[in-house]
Amino acid sequence: MARGFSRIGYHAVVLNGYVFGSRQYAGVFDGQAQPGRPAGTPGAHALGYNSNSLGVCMIGRDNFSLNQLFVTRRVIQDWMRLYDIPIERVIGHYEVARSKTCPNIGGDLLRSYVAGGIVLPKMLQEIEKWNRK
Ligand SMILES: [Zn+2]
Repeated sequence: MARGFSRIGYHAVVLNGYVFGSRQYAGVFDGQAQPGRPAGTPGAHALGYNSNSLGVCMIGRDNFSLNQLFVTRRVIQDWMRLYDIPIERVIGHYEVARSKTCPNIGGDLLRSYVAGGIVLPKMLQEIEKWNRK
């Protein structure tokens, strides 16, 4: 805030329907993409990559809803088209920060999903598998 930035370090946040981490599910928020920083503003999401990347966050650690996955894929695909980002530049935070595990989705799995190689219901199973190993 002090530097005039949004408090959100990401360029978009995709909600899971659980409002402010409560146990109360509000379907209207499930899969809602909230804008964070404008694309031209550096993020504060990945140390060393903030000035040349866009960050999207899914709320929920490793337990994502179909709506979230669907919308997040659209957000990433839109950014790829808008900013001419090749699929290999779509990466999980953990791929550039060893101490991180987010998004708790394997990088290859993520890229395959974004590229359309994995259908949505299967993706949920794959994420579960990834987090079990
Ligand atoms: Zn992260």
